[in-house]
Amino acid sequence: MIDIRNVSKWYGAFQVLTDCTTSIAKGEVVVVCGPSGSGKSTLIKTVNALEPVQQGEIIVDGVTITDPKTNLPKLRSRVGMVFQHFELFPHLSVTENLTLAQIKVLGRGADEAKERGLKMLDRVGLSAHKDKFPGQLSGGQQQRVAIARALSMDPVVMLFDEPTSALDPEMVGEVLDVMVQLAQDGMTMMCVTHEMGFARKVSHRVIFMDGGRIVEDCAKEEFFGHPDRRAPRTQEFLSKIL
Ligand code: ATP
Ligand code: MG
Repeated sequence: MIDIRNVSKWYGAFQVLTDCTTSIAKGEVVVVCGPSGSGKSTLIKTVNALEPVQQGEIIVDGVTITDPKTNLPKLRSRVGMVFQHFELFPHLSVTENLTLAQIKVLGRGADEAKERGLKMLDRVGLSAHKDKFPGQLSGGQQQRVAIARALSMDPVVMLFDEPTSALDPEMVGEVLDVMVQLAQDGMTMMCVTHEMGFARKVSHRVIFMDGGRIVEDCAKEEFFGHPDRRAPRTQEFLSKIL
């Protein structure tokens, strides 16, 4: 579903990604972790071409996104992305937030978009809030709306970049619950997160990054079950967060 092949990227003279290679199969849930500045956000943003790369190849659902001929808006509509900050349109109601891109990007009719959007809102448990504005919702609720909005586009894969790290602690659980549900429903997911409980519960694989490199890429059981087999840098990281 996602193929990242020998990807390197520079910001000016600074190399932010070095020869990153991994692939994510359909239905697989992969957690990406690592220290601050290790390139996690950059790597995940390359997958929907929010960040261009100078070397290597990225293929999403059969489309080579590093090919200059690729229609990026069309590709992005199929890759759901949820960031740390919810980025809902503050001046639009929840329902309007859910339908806008479906109508503008996918060309759906208003009724169809609304039906799809409200179905996804129900999936994240927020049907009762459909007519509210983002400012009237808690951070956790806004993040769940952001997930529903991404799902409304029928994505083939969902990318998450620390979706819970800006939330008050008591709201983290409700967002993780939605992500767990999605994972259990078979969604292909690439999640940058330090929530190791989530990683242990639903991920299939864990990628650990350091200094722009993929240092570790292994099955969850191996990652958590055999810390002694991990690279020294990974062990140091794990000792701080577990
Ligand atoms: P965090 O855990 O803090 O979110 P991260 O692993 O997501 O960190 P990135 O945001 O991918 O790290 O950044 C990787 C490196 O690239 C950092 O050193 C950062 O300062 C640098 N960087 C990120 N964006 C840019 C940019 N637009 N221009 C120049 N350097 C950048
Ligand atoms: Mg980041």
